[in-house]
Amino acid sequence: MEIKFEKAASLKAKPTDESALGFGKIFTDYMFVMEYETGKGWHNARITPFADLSLSPAAMCLHYGQEVFEGMKAYRRADGGIQLFRPRENFKRLNQSNQRLVIPQINEEDALQGLEELLKVEKDWVPHSKGASLYIRPFIIAVDPFLGVHPGDKYLFIIILSPSGAYYASGLNPVNIYVESKYVRAVRGGMGFAKTGGNYAASLIGQDEAHKQNYSQVLWLDGVEQKYIEEVGAMNIFFVIDNEIVTPMLQGSILPGITRKSTIELCKSWGMKVSERRIDIQEIADAYDAGKLQEVFGTGTAAVISPVGHLKWNDKVMEINDNKIGPISQKLYDTMTGIQWGEIADPFNWIE
Ligand code: PMP
Repeated sequence: MEIKFEKAASLKAKPTDESALGFGKIFTDYMFVMEYETGKGWHNARITPFADLSLSPAAMCLHYGQEVFEGMKAYRRADGGIQLFRPRENFKRLNQSNQRLVIPQINEEDALQGLEELLKVEKDWVPHSKGASLYIRPFIIAVDPFLGVHPGDKYLFIIILSPSGAYYASGLNPVNIYVESKYVRAVRGGMGFAKTGGNYAASLIGQDEAHKQNYSQVLWLDGVEQKYIEEVGAMNIFFVIDNEIVTPMLQGSILPGITRKSTIELCKSWGMKVSERRIDIQEIADAYDAGKLQEVFGTGTAAVISPVGHLKWNDKVMEINDNKIGPISQKLYDTMTGIQWGEIADPFNWIE
């Protein structure tokens, strides 16, 4: 694919204090853009200066939420090189989201090429300090100026980049999770498995309630009976019960996380027993009461592995592993981040 380059008139100053980066606040000098029109397909791939978009106020994405996105990171190795963790999985998932939202498929190779060329231009924006990385946000929006409810004919595919700080500035730390029993995030047959804005809009009210109660994230239950465990706001969830690793199976209502997939593959490679199945929240409470709930942790691109210290379900507060980091959470965190930053060998060929 041919990618044009439009040079910026001037470049921004790079952040000097990487400990103050936070998440998703600063953007680099350039973005990758590609357009779609029915009949023409994807065309006009270019790297252009990062700038506001010009959209009709009637643009379809603004009214009916026809949009999808992805989230991944570029990591700087000790030798100065830059690497990606399973980026093809992200573009594959983007196409699964596209299919659900009736957005045209992208060519996954072209998308990866666009990202790699953008990263070549922006390599100096990849942070150097431990745990910091360059967050990558690809997304697609329907831009037709039309208020009828039907799939668009015109789309923009854009990749923006944001240098982001270490998730755990002071080392891996247990988080407190609140089980939401009033609202639901997604139902089977809905679009829970897709990475699309509507799912996150549906989750904000639960997040708000969790924060009011001093919990950092929400654990969602299924949308029908509100008893089977789904996932956390931006993480998949795992339990260690009686030395077995257990995580909710994929049934269409949760995001198929790439860290989830990698966690399952790693645990299996270590000879651990892993089950993907339905998990009743009552089963977790019972395992806790019986002293068999050894660890709970979330998995996701942002924090990689998040040990859960407290889990609150209605009036029951479960303190997991005495609010300490469990051995499996720690081993997964060390291995996964070691591979991501190129500190240890990558026997799975996850790195590109
Ligand atoms: N679930 C949701 C709802 C998410 O937003 C994320 C973050 N992408 C995850 C799970 C974890 O997915 P991944 O491991 O691919 O980051």
